[in-house]
Amino acid sequence: MNEYQKIADLLYPNVKDYTFYLNKYKKRENVKGEVTRYAPSPTGYMHIGNFFQMFISYNLAKNTNGVFIRRLEDTDRKREKEGAFEVIEMVMDKFGIYPDEYETLNGEIKGYYGPYIQTERLDIYHSFAKYLVSIGKAFPCFCKAFENKEEILKDRETKFLDNDATEYDACRNLSFDEVKKHIDNGEKFAIRLKTSGDGIKRVTFTDLIKGEITANANAKDVILVKSDGIPPYTFCHIIDDKLMGVTTVVRGEEYISSTPVHLEIIDALGFDRFKYCHNPLICKIPENGNKRKISKRYDPEADMRYYFENGYPIESVLEYLLNLISSSFEEWRRNNPELSWKEFKFGINDITAVSPIFDLVKLNDISKNIISKMTAEEVFNNVLKWAKEYNNSWYELLLNNKDYAIKMFNIDRNIEKPRKDIYKWSSIPELYKYFYDEFYNPSSIEDYDLPNNYKCAKELLNEYLTIFDENDAKDTWFNKIKELGAKYGFAKEVKEFKKNKEAYIGHCGDVCTLIRVAVTGRTQTPDLYEILKLFGKEKIKNRFNKFYEFI
Ligand code: GLU
Repeated sequence: MNEYQKIADLLYPNVKDYTFYLNKYKKRENVKGEVTRYAPSPTGYMHIGNFFQMFISYNLAKNTNGVFIRRLEDTDRKREKEGAFEVIEMVMDKFGIYPDEYETLNGEIKGYYGPYIQTERLDIYHSFAKYLVSIGKAFPCFCKAFENKEEILKDRETKFLDNDATEYDACRNLSFDEVKKHIDNGEKFAIRLKTSGDGIKRVTFTDLIKGEITANANAKDVILVKSDGIPPYTFCHIIDDKLMGVTTVVRGEEYISSTPVHLEIIDALGFDRFKYCHNPLICKIPENGNKRKISKRYDPEADMRYYFENGYPIESVLEYLLNLISSSFEEWRRNNPELSWKEFKFGINDITAVSPIFDLVKLNDISKNIISKMTAEEVFNNVLKWAKEYNNSWYELLLNNKDYAIKMFNIDRNIEKPRKDIYKWSSIPELYKYFYDEFYNPSSIEDYDLPNNYKCAKELLNEYLTIFDENDAKDTWFNKIKELGAKYGFAKEVKEFKKNKEAYIGHCGDVCTLIRVAVTGRTQTPDLYEILKLFGKEKIKNRFNKFYEFI
């Protein structure tokens, strides 16, 4: 047994040989597609950038009949935020993004390559750390100062630059006897990579989105296992990706700069290198015009919970993200208006290489389209679900008036050019409140969006009540309005009015506006004929009476 092996045994007398794990987690022989993963650290509530990257990873696996894994990277206990992983589980669940393999916090596990929570895999990491020590590619470090590892590493780097690296780190070349002395003293140790970097070497790797990248090779003895026995992301993600059979590492482009470190560790372990797909980060262009990363600090829409609170349909958000991911989505959607977004298959080559700009207006447009195609029942169910969580009074209201609400949502739907005024469920209370007496309470004429001075309003409206019949077909309904208007000096046709404006007070459209304002308070509403039919004579009368109080 050589010196390195003796040291490895001394440090880790009881762990399994690393080959045990290489044999235990079998190669995925039957999977032809990409094996990808989403590996969140629970350090904050789910950011749209994480979701974006997760969604790319998910689609790449789905589009190639591969496997999509969710793994919890929870070894950085200091940065952990309570409840963050629950939010990730909840968000993915609500969006219907179900990983093929995962583990939940309450112990549900699916897949043969688990555990899928890193702190449950410490033995595995120790086995591989032991292996690296046994072949002289890693070493135990007893420096008290390694708690301030940043300083040591920086210092070491400076030495490299001064070409005076060799004598720097006392722990790098400890003999078995020296290591034993530390251990017998009860000292704790970290495991550090014995880098072969010299500050001059370069490394080249291919990123499937960005192309070939050449960077400085690693030259730091990075920490592989901390003195508390817990390895950082740098080490564990490599072991996990290998054992879980990941083919393509999909992650944010902020990881490009640490890829040389990862490559040195991968090479030291004798693993094949993974394919890399570093996605661009979603950006914003704020008022000052300087493009920056979208951030939860400044942009409420960066937190995925924003979309639930505001009641965006999940399809709207997913389709918007597909727009950001690939410039070909929009055309595909135009050519396939009826298909689900799930039918849009894209490959790595279709992913944008430049940071996409987040634009709420565009999201809202997409959402308006999607909602305009829903049936009234679908709208009802969606609003109800949203209201149950975020708007109690509307929840009760909708629940107690289901038929009425569905008829209300059906106005201007199911027609050739459906109305496109809803993009989020939270706008429903404001848009539709005048349909409900409970929420309809004008208190002065100011609350009526009245465009002109209708002197004859009361007489005209009173007479209208006598001729209104909710069973009238639309033509009959409109003709009655024209005839009535004519009696009060309104032109029957707009054309007629335009030819001779002096002869009339207004035209038939103005009569409709008057009726519309008197029953809803607004000049802009969905189809008046349908609204009046839904309201019925009694309710129209009450609304007119309310209106008379103010004119
Ligand atoms: N745990 C890392 C993070 O949340 C994941 C990086 C990766 O996907 O490899 O940023």
